Amino acid sequence: MFQLEDTIVAISTAGGAGARAIVRLSGPEAVCLAQRVFQPVRGSLSEMGGFRAADGMVRMASVGIELPARAYVFRAPRSFTRQDLVEFHVPGAAPELADELISAGARQSEPGEFTARAFFSGRIDLSAATAVADVIDAADDAQLRAAIGSLGGRLERVCGDAASQIAEVLASVEASIDLAAEDIELTAPADLADRLEALSGRLLETADQAELITESDRYPTVVLTGKANVGKSSLLNALSGTDRAIVSVLAGTTRDVLSATMSLTEGVTVRILDAAGFAHPTSPLDAASHKAARRAISGADVLGFVIDSSTDEEHLGDDLTLLSDIRSANSRAPVVVLANKADLLPSWEHAQIDELTRLTELPVIATSAISGEGLEEFRRRVTDLLQLGARSPAEAICLHQRQKRCLMAAANASQEAGEILRNAAEVSDVAEIAAVDLREALGQLGQITGQIVTEDILGMIFARFCVGK
Ligand code: GDP
Repeated sequence: MFQLEDTIVAISTAGGAGARAIVRLSGPEAVCLAQRVFQPVRGSLSEMGGFRAADGMVRMASVGIELPARAYVFRAPRSFTRQDLVEFHVPGAAPELADELISAGARQSEPGEFTARAFFSGRIDLSAATAVADVIDAADDAQLRAAIGSLGGRLERVCGDAASQIAEVLASVEASIDLAAEDIELTAPADLADRLEALSGRLLETADQAELITESDRYPTVVLTGKANVGKSSLLNALSGTDRAIVSVLAGTTRDVLSATMSLTEGVTVRILDAAGFAHPTSPLDAASHKAARRAISGADVLGFVIDSSTDEEHLGDDLTLLSDIRSANSRAPVVVLANKADLLPSWEHAQIDELTRLTELPVIATSAISGEGLEEFRRRVTDLLQLGARSPAEAICLHQRQKRCLMAAANASQEAGEILRNAAEVSDVAEIAAVDLREALGQLGQITGQIVTEDILGMIFARFCVGK
């Protein structure tokens, strides 16, 4: 799948304007190719040792540009990829420099190919390689901390410790087959069972507490809905800190579902949508927006039902009918009622909130998109409802669905081996079948760290990267 022996080049910094750009080369010809385009002020790149930098000029003959640049040289095996690696830091013209290096003989790297080289050379394990992509993609502080934890090898350590304990039990189990006839005292089956069951419990706990990375849409979703003109889009703007001009129309839906992000108190981000179209499906033209709004509502993790608290109470009946439609479109998500435009009611009384609470049987917050009243309370409420505050992100390990499945399968296989051993008089009586489960557990852990890994999984992991990482 990946070719590892040639020399690859890519721009490693994000596109767009920046103070400097980085172009990286990795492979056996890295220094030689770098030399063709770079003239150091002193000496030559090929004579430089690793961890050295040289200032000089890069020449892009094809476009007739010369630029001041700094080249960093890392020598195999002491580099990220364990190959010779050269990094050019240039004030601009990174695409031209990459083209020049390709003309000189380098190959444009595939997405994730630098990290793949680090993995295949044994520089990092697969959980760390996955974490490189997670760090790049992290949607908020908590995910970033968890991803950095994995990058630092936390997941690798958990799997490594578990694997070595399972391997020890497996060794005892296999020894019991070979030594059954000898008069040697072997570990009692109950002791091995205790170890496996304790280990299984720890693995399940880790899987359970893990911060799960959803591959597609990483943000929990809060949907604001309610009748027209109650202030939904004004609240969306106030909560997200954007103005309408830059609130985007959610891809694949109509103008009636607007999307933005909102930061919560815990440094956590959620997606917030304004599903306006649900309220007024009066013409065939509205059918599409109604459908889009319905889809948004049914996918919500929390629903904010907005009413205009400044209108007469007689209109409340319409709100309540709409609320019951919304609840039948999504009976799973908790609902918070936002009694908006509270600023228009200086004497907004608790009695009215109590009345609304009684009628809706839901928590009610008096809000104003204009004065900002109640918005902080809404954020706190969403945090609680999503149980985001209850997590301990600094401790949690960041797991992909695939990794979590492997961890749980390893826990189950250990548990099963434990049960088999617990019911045996001698280890040797059940050694063969316990060994099957123990090897299964090791295999599952190996799929996380990459000791056992299929081409499909590798393809899936490295396909997530952008070119240059
Ligand atoms: P939507 O149709 O529910 O999205 O409602 P909009 O956000 O477009 O607001 C309808 C009208 O109510 C606009 O004129 C807003 O300026 C106004 N509005 C929205 N929220 C508030 C609020 O909290 N207080 C006051 N006084 N006016 C508001």
